[in-house]
Amino acid sequence: MSQKEMLYEGKAKILYKGPKPNTIIQYFKDDATAFNNVKKGTIAGKGIINNKVTELIMIRLSQLGIPTHFIERMSDREQLCHSVDIIPLEVIVRNTVAGSMAKTFGIEEGTRLPNPIIEFSLKDDDLGDPLIPENHILALELAQEDELIEIMDMTAKINVFLRGLFAAIGLELIDFKLEFGRLTDGEDGHFIVLADEFSPDNCRLWDYETGEKMDKDRFRRDLGGVEEAYQEVARRLGISLEVEDEE
Ligand code: UDP
Repeated sequence: MSQKEMLYEGKAKILYKGPKPNTIIQYFKDDATAFNNVKKGTIAGKGIINNKVTELIMIRLSQLGIPTHFIERMSDREQLCHSVDIIPLEVIVRNTVAGSMAKTFGIEEGTRLPNPIIEFSLKDDDLGDPLIPENHILALELAQEDELIEIMDMTAKINVFLRGLFAAIGLELIDFKLEFGRLTDGEDGHFIVLADEFSPDNCRLWDYETGEKMDKDRFRRDLGGVEEAYQEVARRLGISLEVEDEE
């Protein structure tokens, strides 16, 4: 790891310069944070699980025609990706009310929504990632109108696919967060792809039979069994957690 040039260290991942131009390496850590960095901890083995879950989902989504930044998994904790300029938006999909939506509107967690909601938050920790309406996104030139339409179209397709994927393994996909970026070597710099990760860190998964939470809420809410829940999600997805090359 030491030879690689670090580009950025985030809360759950480190980004390194990749071996070829316009590539990066995402290194998945075990560190976990919640409530805008107020709660900090580690979830043993989380980085390996999130790397492998993200790999599986990015591959399946690209088979479905969704362009992603993912190239290949390199090791237990690393994956090679195309470099992108991240659009500073958290794209959140809600199928069932939970978390901040339940709190903001005083609605009981678990209330099913008649149709999925796609909403945006500004990716800015200092401001606490505020909810941002589409007209503000356009006015602040965070994304162009055609880009927003493309993002919403891809997000809706991703939601349909992922709900089915998780339902097939007994998990209800309550909500999740996506990030998109513009490929740095895109034709005119405007080719939008799904970026970042998809893992139990950025979604809510409830077991259909028991109602148990199988995601980062176990950490956020001190529910215990955090590692076990992440492992169980990986196991149900058919992911092997045999350590391959832990340094
Ligand atoms: N989420 C995320 N990163 C964030 C905020 C939210 O990955 O910075 C995910 C979160 O895990 C959940 C969904 O987006 O699956 C909706 O989160 P919510 O707005 O309810 O916020 P929370 O209650 O997690 O603070």
